[in-house]
Order: sequence, then C-alpha cells, then structure tokens
Amino acid sequence: MSRLVVVSNRIPTGATPSGGLVVALHDALSQSGGCWIGTSNETGEKPGALEQIAGQPYTRMAFQLTEEEMVGYYLGFANSVLWPLCHRRVDLVRLSLPDFATYQAVNRRVARLVANTITPEDVIWIHDYHFIPLARALRDLGVTNRIGFFLHIPFPVLSDLAILPEPAAFAAWLAHYDLIGLQTRGDVARCLEMFRADPRAEFLTDGSIKFQERVTAVRSFPIGIDVEGFQADAERTGSNLFGSDNPERFVIGVDRLDYTKGLPNRFEAFGRYLELRPEGSRPCLIQIAPPTRQEVQAYQEITEELQGITGRINGRFAELDWTPIRFINRSVDRSRLARLYRCAQACLVTSLADGMNLVAKEFVAAQDPEDPGVLILSRFAGAAEDMVDALQVNPYDREDMAAAIDLAFRMPLEERQRRHVNCMDVVRRTDSALWSKNFLAVLRSIPVQVPLDVGSLHSSGGIVVGHRAHLGRRSEWKGKAVRPPLR
Ligand code: UDP
Repeated sequence: MSRLVVVSNRIPTGATPSGGLVVALHDALSQSGGCWIGTSNETGEKPGALEQIAGQPYTRMAFQLTEEEMVGYYLGFANSVLWPLCHRRVDLVRLSLPDFATYQAVNRRVARLVANTITPEDVIWIHDYHFIPLARALRDLGVTNRIGFFLHIPFPVLSDLAILPEPAAFAAWLAHYDLIGLQTRGDVARCLEMFRADPRAEFLTDGSIKFQERVTAVRSFPIGIDVEGFQADAERTGSNLFGSDNPERFVIGVDRLDYTKGLPNRFEAFGRYLELRPEGSRPCLIQIAPPTRQEVQAYQEITEELQGITGRINGRFAELDWTPIRFINRSVDRSRLARLYRCAQACLVTSLADGMNLVAKEFVAAQDPEDPGVLILSRFAGAAEDMVDALQVNPYDREDMAAAIDLAFRMPLEERQRRHVNCMDVVRRTDSALWSKNFLAVLRSIPVQVPLDVGSLHSSGGIVVGHRAHLGRRSEWKGKAVRPPLR
C-alpha cells in the first residue's frame, strides 16, 4: 500500500485537528496511513532527530531546529526573502548569504530525515516556501518516489526572481517535483512564464515541462475550508460575544498582523467611510489581528503603524459610548470567529497579495443564507479569481473601499442573497477535502520517473518514465526513455 508522507513547516500537535489545511491533510493521512513531518515548536542546542507524537491513526514526527537554523532558515531566508519576494514586496527583502546557506542546509538535513522514513512506494507531498529545494535534496539522495509540491502563497513575478542570490536555482529546485500545485490560474501562468524564460526547460505537448532530464506538471488547486465543520461552528449558539458592548452594525476583519494584508489601507478606508457615513450612525470595524513573526523588523513596523492609525481615527470620531475601531491584537479561536462572522454585516479582506485568503471563504460559509452579510474582497487575493460575486475592491484605492463599505451596509436583501449563493458555490467547490483529494489523484496518476543509471537500463543521461512494476527500488521499470533536450 502506498502511504502518504506530508512535510510542512508546522504540524498539528493537539488531538483535535482544526483549520482547513490541517483537517484536509489529517483526513488524507487517516485514509492512506502515513506520516506527517514538520518542525517542532521548540528549538534545541543541537539539530534534533525526528520525534514521534502519539495520538493519531498516522505517525506525526517533529524535528527541532537549532536557534541558528531558526534565525537563518525560518526568520531569515524563508520569511525575510521568499515571503516578501512571493508577495511582491522586494523592497522588504533582507538578503544574507549565510541565511541562504542555512536554508539549503536545513532542507538537506530534512531530506535525510525523510529519506530514512520512507519506503519506495510512498507518495511524498511537500508544502510551501520553507521547503522549495527539498525535492532536489531528496533526488540527490537517490529518492525516486513521486514528489508533489504545493505553494500556499503567490508564485513570484519572473523579474522579481532576479533578487535571489542564485536566481536560476529557483526553477531548478521546482523541476525536481513531479507535480507543482499552485493556488490560482494566475499563479500557474507566472510559473509557466518562469519556465518559458529558462533555456533548460522545454514544453511538452501535454503542457508539462521537461527540464533537463525530468518532467514536471504545473496545475492550480485552489485551497478551501472544511465547509461543514465551519458552518456547524457558525450556527452554534453561545454566550453573547460582546457582553453589554454590542456594536450597532459592524464590519469584521481577521488577519495575521502581516504587511501583505493591507491593514493600514483598510483602516484608512474605514476612516474615510466614517467621514461619509449617514448622520447619527455608529458603525464599527472589529479587527482581529494576532501578531506574527515579531522578530522580523517589517512586522514590528506594521504593528506600530496600525496602532498610530487606530489612535488617530478613534481619537477623531469616538464618543463616550462608541469606539469605531476595535483593534484586537490577539488570536480568537475558530468557533468564536465563526460566530463573529455570522453577526457581521460585512467582512473586509484587503490583501495587497495573498495566496488564497481562507478568511474570505470562512466568512461566506458562516453566513445565514436568509440574511447574509457582504464579502468585500481585494482583487489581489487568490480567492478573487473565482469569487466574482464578492464586492471586489482595489486595496490601494481608499475611496473605492469606503464606497464598498457604504454599499455593503445599504445592499438590499435580494442582492445580498444572490451574491452569497454564488460565492457559496465557489466555497463548496473548493472544500478542503476535495482539494487534497484532487491533488493526490493527479500526483498518483503521474508515472514514476527514474534516472536511467538507477534502473536496469543504463545510459549517459535521461530518465525512464513508467509505472513501478514491482516493489524493488532499483529494477523492473516499464516505461519509455525520455532523452534530455538537445541544446
Ligand atoms: N485565524 C484564527 N484566529 C485568529 C486569526 C486567524 O483561527 O485570531 C485563522 C483564520 O480563521 C484562517 C487562518 O487563520 O483560517 C488565516 O488564513 P488566511 O488564508 O486568511 O491567511 P494566512 O494567515 O494563511 O496568510
């Protein structure tokens, strides 16, 4: 039986999985058996081996990063280079060659841990920008298993890749995957543009890419949420969320406190709406924004900036019994969030760049279909590609967003219902269980590729493409030889 082996930065450590991605992978792993490998919450003095976490029908294994790896690999190259690069904020990229070396070294170390855990039949699914070179490192160790990759964040713009210490490495790392999964059709277009610009790549008639001696496929798999679980949470009644401080009407925002989420633009737009609002109305913006990556300077700066804007707007408009912006710098658990979404008249998603934005989908799923709230959605969020019936806005345009807030508060019931039905259709079609099922079905359908000098066929280069004929790693491959491109 072919097990699933998942590698992601974080692994769920509790007994009850929550969140779309976690639930989807938990279900997929529970069905096929397998293993989920990720970093442990603790750092250690020395690089840690894999430690098993009990309590699930599959194995969870965590490895510790050293303090140095945490700084160079996680905070450094992953979150101060790749994150801003992919989110089109090259101005925030902090390059450091030692960080780049640490990033690659951690990937090589994780590759050794993974290689010692897998059997030849396992299917490997690697997640996100922390592990882009992992397939390459696994191939270097002789791993020929099918390896899929899913990038949860936007695919970078080709010209921005030039900021990397070794720009050509990015395409070469990715080409070692059998399947590259991206969030949107726009991401796929950018990825193909990168390969098209690379003299090492050649496009095959079925749309896949032959890169030196390997073939890789690129497809979009828009991620979603656990729709039923979320709806159940939203419909659950509980104690009054606001106590005696019930807002008259409110717009909700829920985001990690990240510079990609367009929070200053959002707060300014709400301030502009307050100037324009009907006389006597007392709307609120309730913004849940748990801090994240506070060790990185760009994140400290955005927190201070938002505190300043909140103080200015509240100072100008607040009354003794009304605070227009409630800026909550703490995490709120999923079930309370679901109920908050349901009470809100509108949700504001103002990302300047965003892989998908699950909050948009959660808000839609949480609504009462009889009296739904309105989703105001940045056209730069991945979710906007399919959710064409959200009120789409340009987060760089304060007037546009202020007008959208006004429209959302005044929108007739019939129009709210029509938009909600259409958005809900998208949310259902991209349910997280379907997302993982679709990705794995495509990955498992791709023939295994083995370098010719690994199998029984010997040659000076090229690979064998074919389905594994028996359980051994080294022999009996049925397939057609693919020659490396002539250059
Ligand atoms: N979230 C949460 N509590 C909070 C803030 C956010 O549980 O206080 C969850 C939210 O419900 C969503 C996820 O964090 O599931 C954020 O995902 P999204 O795709 O919107 O943005 P990301 O943080 O991945 O950039």
